[in-house]
Amino acid sequence: MQFREIPKAELGEGIDSATAFTSVCINTAIYLPYLVSQCLKAGVSFRRAIFNHICDAATAHVSGQKAHVIVHCTGLAAAKMKGVEDKTVIPARGQTVLVRNDPGAMYSISGCDDGEDEVAYIMMRAAGGGTILGGSYQKGNWESQSDPSLAMRIMKRAVELCPQLTSGGGVEGLDIIRHGVGLRPLRAAGARIEKEKIDGVWVIHNYGHGGYGYQSSYGCSQVVVQLADEVLAEKARL
Ligand SMILES: Cc1cc2nc3c(=O)[nH]c(=O)nc-3n(C[C@H](O)[C@H](O)[C@H](O)COP(=O)(O)OP(=O)(O)OC[C@H]3O[C@@H](n4cnc5c(N)ncnc54)[C@H](O)[C@@H]3O)c2cc1C
Repeated sequence: MQFREIPKAELGEGIDSATAFTSVCINTAIYLPYLVSQCLKAGVSFRRAIFNHICDAATAHVSGQKAHVIVHCTGLAAAKMKGVEDKTVIPARGQTVLVRNDPGAMYSISGCDDGEDEVAYIMMRAAGGGTILGGSYQKGNWESQSDPSLAMRIMKRAVELCPQLTSGGGVEGLDIIRHGVGLRPLRAAGARIEKEKIDGVWVIHNYGHGGYGYQSSYGCSQVVVQLADEVLAEKARL
């Protein structure tokens, strides 16, 4: 929406091209509980359990009977889940810093000088959720703790990209809420959305969405519903 190319004369040194547009930004800390509330409203039952084998999920149906179909969405755990063990799923580690500072707009650039697995973006979370400074895209890195030197590079890049973030006060002007690390469930060939019969149970896979799991979720879930309908229609014919 309101997409425009920024004229060359307005670009800073070292920037070849830039665009500006309005878009949607999800505050996932609010969005996920909202989705749970929508499911509850629709009559969905929730049960928590850890499964070693994907087919074990069939025994967790609220009716007490074995489920006819399992929708498998374990993200990165698809690499280790028995019955699946998809070794092409790896983490793409993303480190962030959450700050209280308000940049006034969101920014993302195509690359930075700190290495191919580091990126620079500034995202404001809706409803007082603070501002996320990113980031990194470190393939195969399972480290769950924040790396302080990477955090410093993230903050330096953010204030360089957007000096108004701290009103020109540099990194010292950042008001840090917390440091974060997330592991994107990256799959070499892209997300896997297909049905497969495993040990006599239909499993619909929906995993491996890397860094686009939220934005692709509506489209992916439509395909999952279609596949589930196919499985249930086949069962009804038997
Ligand atoms: C820094 C960062 C920035 C990102 N930015 C964006 C963005 O801008 N846009 C976007 O769309 N996406 C973004 N993502 C990616 C997004 O977060 C993921 O694609 C998404 O969370 C994947 O969702 P999922 O449900 O497939 O997997 P997950 O959220 O990992 O959920 C997997 C679930 O499976 C459960 N599970 C695993 N193993 C078992 C087991 N053995 N038994 C029972 N349950 C199990 C887990 O408990 C968990 O609930 C970003 C990620 C990071 C880290």
